[in-house]
Amino acid sequence: MKILVLNAGSSSLKYQLFNMESSEVLAKGNCERIGAGGTITHKRPNADPLFEELNLENHGVALERVLALLCSDEYGVIKSISEIDAVGHRVAHGGEQLKESSIVTESVIKYLETIVPINPLHGPPALAGMKACLELMPEVKQVAVFDTSFYSEIEDFRYIYPIPYEFYENDKIRRYGFHGTSHRYVSAQLAKCLGKPIEELKIITCHLGNGSSITAVDGGKAIDTSMGFSPQEGIEMGTRSGSIDPTIVPYLMKTKGYTAQEVEDIINKKSGLLGVSGISNDCRNVNEAAEAGNKRAELAIKILINGIKKHIGSYVAELNGLDAVVFTAGIGENDWTIREKVCDNMDYLGIEIDKEKNKNFKRGIPFDITAKGAKVATWVIPTDEEYMIAIDTQRLANK
Ligand code: ADP
Repeated sequence: MKILVLNAGSSSLKYQLFNMESSEVLAKGNCERIGAGGTITHKRPNADPLFEELNLENHGVALERVLALLCSDEYGVIKSISEIDAVGHRVAHGGEQLKESSIVTESVIKYLETIVPINPLHGPPALAGMKACLELMPEVKQVAVFDTSFYSEIEDFRYIYPIPYEFYENDKIRRYGFHGTSHRYVSAQLAKCLGKPIEELKIITCHLGNGSSITAVDGGKAIDTSMGFSPQEGIEMGTRSGSIDPTIVPYLMKTKGYTAQEVEDIINKKSGLLGVSGISNDCRNVNEAAEAGNKRAELAIKILINGIKKHIGSYVAELNGLDAVVFTAGIGENDWTIREKVCDNMDYLGIEIDKEKNKNFKRGIPFDITAKGAKVATWVIPTDEEYMIAIDTQRLANK
């Protein structure tokens, strides 16, 4: 079975074509600057990547070019579109109704359109991707896989904000959680690595990338997570503030005359590692500057570490125990210094890592960094949201 996985961003369209029998990626790539020029990077195993600059007016045009590349004599890996058995779409937000991965139907699209106001950044491009597929390959089954669905069983006292209840009832303001596909994937991988049924495990998964979130997973189900109504809540991120006192927003508007959009830009695009350090949103650059003695870079890293530690501590309390901690995504998988700092002085909770193993970890594979005799297992597990989407797509398309 061949499955095409699509991940549409506001000006990008990432794709991966999987052969599910061999779990192989046949081709993958990224269309960027959609709507403002356009580039495509197209990669196949054991072949030079192709880089094209062309006019990609919208997601439909980008998808058309991707399908042509996948089927082309020179750069292709299939003979025709009919070899694609199903398409899986990454959809950040499934709202309250779409609690699990779903076949894309007219009613699914209609519902997703109604929740665009609470998902303004990711909703429109995801919808554009689904509509383009329905137009270009109407015979092929489409499956939507939602970042939010891993959190659909979280209890109300953890997702209701203590504001007037009618804002939940009428406006659907509640915590939703994001990155669910990644947390679901790495927690399942961890159970495999430990050789234990996931039902018996209490896990805290730390997805630390440009956007970061931490999730408490009890018996395979997410019970709490750091992101909320939007991916803005939680720990400090590349350019997002994470949780701040909410009165800072009206205070800035009143005293500085900022519009709502301007404050949103500040907390979303100009804060986090970038805002505090004044150097970069990229953890590598901030780390480098901190090591060279830059105080604000050092502070930005300290804020990040403290946020991660606090979440781990509070989730141990919620889980009433802990079997394992997982680090994943760009920072979690690659930055041993951040992992070392997070796990430092956490032995009271049973978290102790082998510093040498952590420093000399192998990239790209699940890696155990637990110290000998530690009560809690600590692992680095590469995330693979696309593969998880392909698995869900295969399951639903075969139904
Ligand atoms: P996104 O949320 O955009 O998917 P990623 O998961 O790719 O982000 O993570 C991006 C972050 O990962 C950046 O802060 C970057 O510094 C960090 N990162 C990526 N590779 C490395 C590396 N080799 N060493 C340290 N940090 C890394």
